[in-house]
Amino acid sequence: MSETPRYLDAAIGTEKRVEDLLSRLTIKEKFRLLTSPGRLRIYVTAPIKRLGIPEFKTTDGPLGVAMHSSGFKKNTRFPATVSLAATWNRDLAHQVGIAMGEEVRAVGRHVLLAPGINIARTPLNGRTFEYFSEDPYLTKELAIPLVKGVQEQRVAACLKHYAANNQETDRRISDSVIDERTVHEIYLRAFRATVLEADPWSVMACYNKVNGIYGSEHKYLIRETLMDKWGFNGLVMTDWFASRPIETTEGCVNAGLGLEMPWPLRYKTKSLQKAYNEGAFTQETLDDLIRRNLRVMMQTGLFDNPEKLPKGSRNTIEHQELARQIAEEGMVLLKNEESILPLDIENLEELGVYGKHMRKKFGGLFKGGSSGVSPPHEVTPLEGLTKKLHDKVKLYTNDTAADVAIVFVGLGHNKGGDSESSDRKSIHLDEEQVGLIKKVASEHHKTIVCVIAGSPIAMDEWINDVEAVLMCWYGGMEAGHAIANVLFGEVNPSGKLPLTFPKKLSDSPAHNTGDPRNYPGNEEKRVFYDEGIFIGYRWFDEKNIEPLFPFGFGKSYTSFEFGSVNLSNSNLQNLDDSLTVDVGLTNTGSSPGAEVIQIYAHDVQSSVERPPRELAGFQKVLLQPGETKTTSVLVKAGDLAFYDVTKHDWAIEPGDFKFLIGNSSRAIYLDAEFSYG
Ligand code: BGC
Repeated sequence: MSETPRYLDAAIGTEKRVEDLLSRLTIKEKFRLLTSPGRLRIYVTAPIKRLGIPEFKTTDGPLGVAMHSSGFKKNTRFPATVSLAATWNRDLAHQVGIAMGEEVRAVGRHVLLAPGINIARTPLNGRTFEYFSEDPYLTKELAIPLVKGVQEQRVAACLKHYAANNQETDRRISDSVIDERTVHEIYLRAFRATVLEADPWSVMACYNKVNGIYGSEHKYLIRETLMDKWGFNGLVMTDWFASRPIETTEGCVNAGLGLEMPWPLRYKTKSLQKAYNEGAFTQETLDDLIRRNLRVMMQTGLFDNPEKLPKGSRNTIEHQELARQIAEEGMVLLKNEESILPLDIENLEELGVYGKHMRKKFGGLFKGGSSGVSPPHEVTPLEGLTKKLHDKVKLYTNDTAADVAIVFVGLGHNKGGDSESSDRKSIHLDEEQVGLIKKVASEHHKTIVCVIAGSPIAMDEWINDVEAVLMCWYGGMEAGHAIANVLFGEVNPSGKLPLTFPKKLSDSPAHNTGDPRNYPGNEEKRVFYDEGIFIGYRWFDEKNIEPLFPFGFGKSYTSFEFGSVNLSNSNLQNLDDSLTVDVGLTNTGSSPGAEVIQIYAHDVQSSVERPPRELAGFQKVLLQPGETKTTSVLVKAGDLAFYDVTKHDWAIEPGDFKFLIGNSSRAIYLDAEFSYG
């Protein structure tokens, strides 16, 4: 009788199991583990029957379990990542991580191809809705709990797209040309922090080149930075077909690429064998890649007794409620003249509803790209309102003048909208929608505009015509209920913009020069990030440009007053230090509500260029009417650092700093001084 192999024994621990299994693999089997079986099996790795290694299975993506791996209408469609980011709520990010992990478990997959943590460089990026923010701090603060949540279910999270994949135009061939400081300080920062603090088990390389080298063969980015410098011990995979334009097999192997998807191109057994025979890569390098792949298989329980693994669940009432809660907390009230919102169901006789978006649904196979999730139902705004109003308020959708009108406008997941593979062409709504807003506004005393979109929208041509604007994002399968709850005051909005909304495209950093070298790239498809570290609000502050709505902005139905500020410590000594900023806040209005205390850091004197202010801490606080609370907000010295190119490392210069405290990057009510070194 043969003995049970040691790698099946969970009791000996992951590393010993990995070594045991590694020692049993032939070189050909190792090659096969570096890619998929090919043909239509494009989301799984090749199984090795001899050793009982099953397929290792991945699935998209950032909005929940995508349809391509689990059948029609079965999974919860969560709000888009940008909507989660607008909640500024770490606990919700953790909860949705757990819920997505449960859904992945329920469909028998092992890797969730999420979260996407690329930084919003241009408002035109078709995938802005799948990412968090223009700010690396906000991005990592939410990505960390999300990754932890996913992996608590023994499902691997996959940080993507590493790195500087900031536009969809020419994404498979473009070259992001960025200076060293900017790469680290803006585009790698959230990846680094998430690796250090949440230990994600996998990372997906980008399609594009970074400074002349494709992401999947980028030795500096993968081997030297992610693995050697940050200590990442998981696996790195290609984006789907990203290896197509890459010339050599060994380039990928030596860079640290452990998985080529969706099928073998550079990692065909023949090519791997040839490169190996020629000494183009070593056994040691190959084993390192295999070890990483096997480690993630162990971590996700591929060889464990299924009885001992989390069972998972999908599309439960709890997951739907969570989706609704994120949609509610993520909505951003941008304008509310004369407190027209919330609407009062008891005192409203009639409501006119306009715009195609009142009936629009967003879920479906590959709708918007790989993140498409097809849920069993999707509540439209019209359905949400109808249910909320019963027969209490007359609802017109046929152009009958009513007391109040709501116009639902926005984008969709079509090409040229919020969609993978292409960018938006403009930041304006189309003429038809602008015309509709203006017409409705001219015919009603009170007009509310609800914008359903996943990226910044210019509003100058119509915003003065209307009384209220609510940014709804893509709220997932329960969006319609969430919108009705906010409009009628059951939920007090507390979302804050994770992106600056510019007045016009040319105000934003990538478009300021109007030169194609900055966007979408010159004739050689090179995109020069000439604005450097001045991305998002960092740019608007530095150049003194007034945005339409600043980063961090969002109104409430109640009002808040900032009180006093107190630092636990007024001197920080090293990069690992931290302090707390105690901020007093009072709800001075008449309804319960949540406010986000935002702490921006300002380096008073510096030998290198620094943005006027950078987010370094935040906390969402719920207050009852009249209530005052003092909240301790943690700030870590590491988050005040800049990337010092003379040392190729993070640094803070000794000297004075200031905290600027308020409820948006442009609404600062308190400040406090401290020093470093
Ligand atoms: C996308 C990835 C996705 C992959 C697999 C690619 O087109 O860029 O984000 O995870 O497909 O579907």
